[in-house]
Amino acid sequence: MLSLLCSKMFCVECGKKGKTYSGLCLDCYLKKKKFFVIPSEIVVTFCRNCDAYRIGNEWKKGMLWKDIEEYIKNQIKADIEYECKVEDNKVICRGEFEGREVMEEKEIKIKEKQKLCPQCSLMKGGYFEAVLQIRGAEKESLAEIDEIVKRRVKEKQSFISKKEKVRGGIDYYIGNKKAAEKAAKEIKEVTGGELTISSSLVGMKDGKRVYRNTYSIRMPEYAGKFVKIDGKLYRIVSSGKKLELEGVDGKTLHVYKDELKRAVWLELEEREATVLHEDKDTLHIMDSRDFKTYVVRKPKKWKGGKKINIVEHEGKIYAVE
Ligand SMILES: [Zn+2]
Ligand SMILES: [Zn+2]
Repeated sequence: MLSLLCSKMFCVECGKKGKTYSGLCLDCYLKKKKFFVIPSEIVVTFCRNCDAYRIGNEWKKGMLWKDIEEYIKNQIKADIEYECKVEDNKVICRGEFEGREVMEEKEIKIKEKQKLCPQCSLMKGGYFEAVLQIRGAEKESLAEIDEIVKRRVKEKQSFISKKEKVRGGIDYYIGNKKAAEKAAKEIKEVTGGELTISSSLVGMKDGKRVYRNTYSIRMPEYAGKFVKIDGKLYRIVSSGKKLELEGVDGKTLHVYKDELKRAVWLELEEREATVLHEDKDTLHIMDSRDFKTYVVRKPKKWKGGKKINIVEHEGKIYAVE
């Protein structure tokens, strides 16, 4: 800026006497000088497949106009301190030079283009970094699992390349490893399933090994487990939409899985006993471990025979089917 100032006495344009700027008086200088460099056109590229757009070099989603405004502001160059406003396609820049207001207004053309964004072109190419395997899930929980996967994938701005029904479950092919991992951990948390993670080398890229992860979640098996609800011992005999529980007193209970949150899970080991005699509601049995005999309640689903499994809990013996 200092180089612009010199001490010539007369304006070369109008001849006015006084301080000059590049040979011009202040008025002539303000008329001629371009203080702002404002782009006349910007290009916005929209993804053909999703709502992503690219302004400059960056693909983004969400606030198109805010991003356009910010980009335009970053493109403007000026020799003086200034402020800028973007209204629709119009840019107004204001600054000050030698105590005088300097203003420029300009229309910016926004050129639209279409292309696939990098994520969508990867997806269309079948790219995936991780496989999420859901195994043993019942229909009711599949919708919930699907919602979790979609949400986690969106969070990471990734995609599901493929969703495939396979024997015993569903496989999700996911574009981003981290998204798959987050989904897997949440599903494990929500369903109480068991998560195993494995990784396999699929090749090299830019001199680095590329691994693909598999997150496999096996839903918990309920049948055969023992629980205590309100101080009473139950054995889960079948699981469907509702679980069927058989109490030690022979009473049956039907509960939703959610209700098992208040249950105490027990690890009871089953062992074999010999059936000595069968009555209407009871069995006379002999524990194969110490040959002690007991009279126990006959399990509802017991199909008969010489052997039966028993468990011991708090000093009492119970027969299970
Ligand atoms: Zn002049
Ligand atoms: Zn896209």
